[in-house]
Amino acid sequence: MDTVDELLENPAIYAYLHRLVGDEGIELLKKFPSEGEHSDEDLAAETGINLNSVRHSLYTLYEKRLAEYHRIKNNETGWLTYLWQIRLDRIPVAIREDLENILDKLEQRERFEEENDFYICKDCGIILPFAKALDLEFKCPECDNPIAHFDNDALLAALKQRIAEIRETVAHAGSS
Ligand SMILES: [Zn+2]
Repeated sequence: MDTVDELLENPAIYAYLHRLVGDEGIELLKKFPSEGEHSDEDLAAETGINLNSVRHSLYTLYEKRLAEYHRIKNNETGWLTYLWQIRLDRIPVAIREDLENILDKLEQRERFEEENDFYICKDCGIILPFAKALDLEFKCPECDNPIAHFDNDALLAALKQRIAEIRETVAHAGSS
């Protein structure tokens, strides 16, 4: 398996993780001991990162199945300790799921843009679909000026381009 540093050199992986956990999360990943399981307190002490930030990053990674823990109970005190390890081997799956979600949303938007006719107030910049514009008798809900037909071809072309790029990326991610 690639080391954390090697993974972070990949711009797509870095961008994904940075969006997920931010600077301190990246810092935690870089400093995370390569062996074994570690409590959040130990990680904070070893990395010098604030404990709440460590916890927040771990939980965020956990939600994406990029970190996991198991609990151990101290038989004398009854206290629970959570021991963590990171699972960056799951990054390709997490990124793929992320892209598929984005793709879903873009495709819904594409359908909405394709199936609707739009009207714009050139003063306010408000854009309304036909049914809404009709309700308002083709007057702007903000300034009451008449609204004009809005040509969404450029927007639709940009959407289609973005969708094609993401589909391409997903296809490649699948083969790695
Ligand atoms: Zn207006």
